[in-house]
Amino acid sequence: MLKKERKTGLIFFPAFDWAISPTHPEREERLLYTQDQVFEEGLLDFDNIIEFKPGVAVDDDINRVHICVPDTRSVITESHLISAGGAITAAEKVMKGEVDNAFALVRPPGHHAMLVVHGARGFCNVNIEAIMIEYIRKHYGPQRVAIIDTDCHHGDGTQDIYWNDPNTLCISIHQDGTTLYPGTGFHREFGGPNALGATINIPLPPRTSDEGFLYILDHVILPILDEFKPDLVINSAGQDNHYSDPITDMRFTAQGYALLNDRLSPHIAVLEGGYSIEKALPYVNVGIILAMAGLDYSNVREPDYDPLTIRQSDEISRYVEKEAAEIYTLWGKRDLMREKLIGNAEYVRRKKPIYYDTDGISEQQEETVRVCNDCGGIVTIDSAADTGNRIFAVIIPGQSCPACRAKGEEIYTSTGKDKYNYVYLQDRERDIFLVK
Ligand SMILES: [Zn+2]
Ligand SMILES: [Zn+2]
Ligand SMILES: [Zn+2]
Repeated sequence: MLKKERKTGLIFFPAFDWAISPTHPEREERLLYTQDQVFEEGLLDFDNIIEFKPGVAVDDDINRVHICVPDTRSVITESHLISAGGAITAAEKVMKGEVDNAFALVRPPGHHAMLVVHGARGFCNVNIEAIMIEYIRKHYGPQRVAIIDTDCHHGDGTQDIYWNDPNTLCISIHQDGTTLYPGTGFHREFGGPNALGATINIPLPPRTSDEGFLYILDHVILPILDEFKPDLVINSAGQDNHYSDPITDMRFTAQGYALLNDRLSPHIAVLEGGYSIEKALPYVNVGIILAMAGLDYSNVREPDYDPLTIRQSDEISRYVEKEAAEIYTLWGKRDLMREKLIGNAEYVRRKKPIYYDTDGISEQQEETVRVCNDCGGIVTIDSAADTGNRIFAVIIPGQSCPACRAKGEEIYTSTGKDKYNYVYLQDRERDIFLVK
C-alpha cells in the first residue's frame, strides 16, 4: 500500500543516571535497545525522519500542572526535567510546523502522576504529557486536546489532572483494573460535573489481542474523536500491552501497535510504560515510527511472533464487542447524566485515598469543584499525607469565567495557614503560581 510520507520528529532520552533501583523494570535499557534497533534498521537514513535533542523543562512548566509538595525540587530530579523537556521539544517541532508529527522516546514516564504530588507512584513523579499540553496552551493558545492512553495500566494521573477540564478528552484503554495496578479505570469514572464524558475508560480483559484493541479503536475511540473534534491528538504510547511484557497479561503485538498508531494518527506520541526490553520495545517502537512517518511497517515482526498462541478467545471477542457498545452508549448520554449528577448542587465533592506505591506514602484528598456552565469550574483541594504535610490548593481553570475567577481568588486570599503547611494558587489561565 502506497501512503503519503510524513515528516516525523524523534526525541530520545534514555536517562542514564536515573533508576528506581538497578534491577527495577523501569530502567535505562528500556530505551537503549530501542535506540540500537532504530539505528540498525536505518530509520534515521530516511529524509522524513529527523532526530532532535530533548530540551529541559523548567519549574514554571511543572507548576502549571502540578501542586508539588512542598515544591518541585523536592519531588523530581534533573532526569524528570529532561523527560518532560523531551515531550515539550516534540510538541514545539509539531506546533512550529517543522515536522508533521513527533515521538518522544523518553523516560522516566509520567501518566500515574496526579495533580497533587507528594512523591512517586507507579514509577512516575510528574506527568510529562500534561506538562507538554499546558506548555502548548501557554505558548500557542487554547487548544482542544485528546489524549489516548494505550499503556496497559490505567492512566490515572492524567485522568486526575484533567478530571474537570471539558477541553481535554482523556481516553484510557488498559488491562482491567480488577487484575492490574493501579486498580482503577472503570466505566463509571467519566469526568467531573463540568466535564462529564471528557474522561473515558476502556478496561479490557487479560489476554485481549490486536483484534480486540483495534475493534475498540474503530468502534469507540475514532467515533468519539470525530465528535469531540480535537485540535491535537496525543498518544500516551505505553507498550506494556505486548504479549511478552513481564508485568502485564495482554496479547498485543508490534503490528497491532503500528496499525493502531496509523489509524489514530496522533500529532504527538509520548512513550510511557513497556518492560519487555529486548522482545517487545525495539519492534513496537520501530513499528510506531514507521507508521507515524507514513512508511511501510508490514514487515515489522517480533522474532518469536506466533499468531496462534496469542489469539484472543471468542469469549473475549464477544466481551469486547459488548463493552464497546456500552461505552459508546454512555458517551451519548453524557448530558443527561450531568443533570442527574448535579441536580441543584452548587459544589460537587470527591474524596480520594491515594497511595504512592513507589515511595510508600499515603494521602487523603478532598477535591471540590464549583458547578459551572461557563467553564471547567474552580477546583479546591485539601490534601493530607502521612509525611506530615497538609496542603490546600485553589486551581483556576484555563478559559475560566469571571464568576469562577473571582471565587477562586477570594478563596485563596481568605484561606489561612492555621490548618495547612502550605496554601497554593494555580491560575492556569494567567499562568500564575503562588504559595503561602
Ligand atoms: Zn491506558
Ligand atoms: Zn504501564
Ligand atoms: Zn466558571
